[in-house]
Amino acid sequence: MAGDTSYRYPGEHLVLAITVVAVLLVIALTATATMCTSVVFVGMAVMISFHASRSAHRQLVERAQRISSESNPEIVSIIQTCKNRIQPGDVEVFVAPTRQLNAYTFGLSDPKAVVLYSGLFHVMDKDELSFILGHELGHVRLGHTWLNSLIGGMAGIPSPSSASALLMLTFLWWNRMCEYSADRAGLLACQKPEKAISALIKLVAGEKGLTHEGMALAYSQIDAEDDTVMGSINEAFGSHPMLIRRIQQIRRFAASDQYERLV
Ligand SMILES: [Zn+2]
Repeated sequence: MAGDTSYRYPGEHLVLAITVVAVLLVIALTATATMCTSVVFVGMAVMISFHASRSAHRQLVERAQRISSESNPEIVSIIQTCKNRIQPGDVEVFVAPTRQLNAYTFGLSDPKAVVLYSGLFHVMDKDELSFILGHELGHVRLGHTWLNSLIGGMAGIPSPSSASALLMLTFLWWNRMCEYSADRAGLLACQKPEKAISALIKLVAGEKGLTHEGMALAYSQIDAEDDTVMGSINEAFGSHPMLIRRIQQIRRFAASDQYERLV
């Protein structure tokens, strides 16, 4: 009698099997649904950024100053040298009239666009401009422009808040790696480490960077950045590394055998 379980209610095993199969089916179906919506979501994010960048390009072509060999022969020669050294493919360079010091690149289809703010021309010398332009061309050459739309779309996938914070932080981390890579391209474009560094310092110093005192003051501000915990926390939430780390990385790369080989 002991050990005999033949009294088990008929159908118990069958229903157990059905339950297990149903659970597995639901897992498989929801996983597939999540996969499908994820793919659709990323596809839509990429399409939206494709259209946004196309219309931004169209507006730019209408408004921004185009650089020609008649109006800006010196800038044209800088652009040509940088393009020869970085080989970014089909890229148009525009100048946006503003006193700010900035540059950016965008575009998912050719030609890609690089926009230089005209303020740069008042503050930067020829080599520093080559670094700034080379940095942007590096983003294009290394595929950061289209990867940004794709990876940004993936990192933006709707998910529970803790997961989406994690995705955003890793996406920003990758963004900061891209900045180091683009700085290396900038250095390869200008081939003068001290000019790559002074270009970065001038982004902070602005017009004060035209004097030695202004540069020294800006450098001491930049240098103090990594001494505080807040500096590191801000960096983790930012798309760009601290300037002092970028400067250190430029020095390190400039001293490497790899840099020697590439120039
Ligand atoms: Zn950049």
